[in-house]
Amino acid sequence: MSRYWSAVVHGLTPYVPGEQPKIANLVKLNTNEHPYGPSPLALAAIQAAADDGLRLYPDPNADALKAALGQRFGLAPQQVFVGNGSDEVLAHAFMALLRHEQPLWRPDVGYSFYPVYCGLYGLQQRAIALADDFSIRPADYLPQGGQQAGAIVFANPNAPTGRLLGLDEVERIVAGNPQAVVLVDEAYIDFGGTSAAALLGRYPNLLVVQTFSKSRSLAGLRVGFALGSAELIEGLERVKNSFNSYPLGRLALAGALASVQDEAHFQRSCQQVMDTRAALVAELEALGFAVLPSAANFVFARHPQHDAAQLAADLRARAVLVRHFRAPRIEQFLRITVGSPEQCAALLQALRELV
Ligand code: PMP
Repeated sequence: MSRYWSAVVHGLTPYVPGEQPKIANLVKLNTNEHPYGPSPLALAAIQAAADDGLRLYPDPNADALKAALGQRFGLAPQQVFVGNGSDEVLAHAFMALLRHEQPLWRPDVGYSFYPVYCGLYGLQQRAIALADDFSIRPADYLPQGGQQAGAIVFANPNAPTGRLLGLDEVERIVAGNPQAVVLVDEAYIDFGGTSAAALLGRYPNLLVVQTFSKSRSLAGLRVGFALGSAELIEGLERVKNSFNSYPLGRLALAGALASVQDEAHFQRSCQQVMDTRAALVAELEALGFAVLPSAANFVFARHPQHDAAQLAADLRARAVLVRHFRAPRIEQFLRITVGSPEQCAALLQALRELV
C-alpha cells in the first residue's frame, strides 16, 4: 500500500503468471509454450529487421501484418487488430467493448486474467458454473428470466480445462446475444478446433482473439490479434491509440508477418503437438489419471489417489514444472503442457515414481 497510489490500484488483484524459472534444465510444462520453436523464416525476418537497424519507429498501423492476417482469414485489413500479446488485446477489448451497464458473463472456470481486467476497468461480472463434466453449456449464455449479458467472454478451447465448444455451439451463443459483444479467446484453437472467425461475416457482435504465443511458438515476441467487424475493430484502435500509438516493434512486426507466411511449418508443428498429446493422454490414463478431453496444447488431469498440489511440488523437486491452480473446483487438477516427446517422457518417468 502506498499513499502515492491512485484509488484504482488499491483495489487491484494482479494476475500471477506461471513460473518462468531462472534455472536451466527444468522440464518446463507449466505455461503452454510450443516445444518446437517458430518458423525459421520468422527468425530470419527478425534477424533481418535487426540488421536493418532499429533507429526508426515501426509502422503504427501494422499494415503488412494486418493484410496478411486478413488474407489468411478471408477478412479486410480493417477487420484485424494487433497488439502486444493477446493479453494486451484482451485488455483493450475489456475497456473498449465489454464494459456496459449490464454485467459481463463468463464461465466460473476460465482464463484467470478475465476477472483481473474486470477489476481494472470496473466491470460487473457474473460467473456462470461449468457443467459437471467441465464443459461450457451454451444454453446458460442465452438471455433468460429478463436478464441479458452486457458482454460475454470465454476461451475456446477453455483454459485451463482444454475442453472445446463446436462451431455450432459458439454460434448459438453469438446469435442468441445480438445486444452483446461476444469475445471468443482462441489462444489454443489451432490444436484441433475450428475458429469462430468463420462466423464473422454474419455477426457484427463477435470478436475473435488469437495469439502467436502458442501455435506459432513466438511467446517471446509478444504478438496477439483480434478479428471482428470493422465497427468493433475501430473501437479497439481508439483505445490502443490512447495508450500507445505503436502497438508492435519492428522485430515483432517482421517475425509475425513471416510466421503467417509459413503455413507449412505452422500446420506441421501443430500436428506434432496433437500427436504427442494423444500419446501423453494414453500414458497418463495408464498411470491412473482422469484426463479431460483436450483440444489444446495442454491436458488437464487429476489422480483420484493423489493430492494435486503435492504432486506438483513433488514434480518440481524432480525438475519438472507443471501448473496447479488453488481455485475452487479445479484444485485437484494439474495442467500439463504437451511438450516434446522427450519432455513428456521425463514427466512420465517422474510420475511413475510418485503415483
Ligand atoms: N488467453 C488464454 C486463454 C491464455 O491461456 C493466454 C496465455 N496465458 C493468453 C490469452 C495470453 O497469451 P499471450 O498474451 O501470450 O498472447
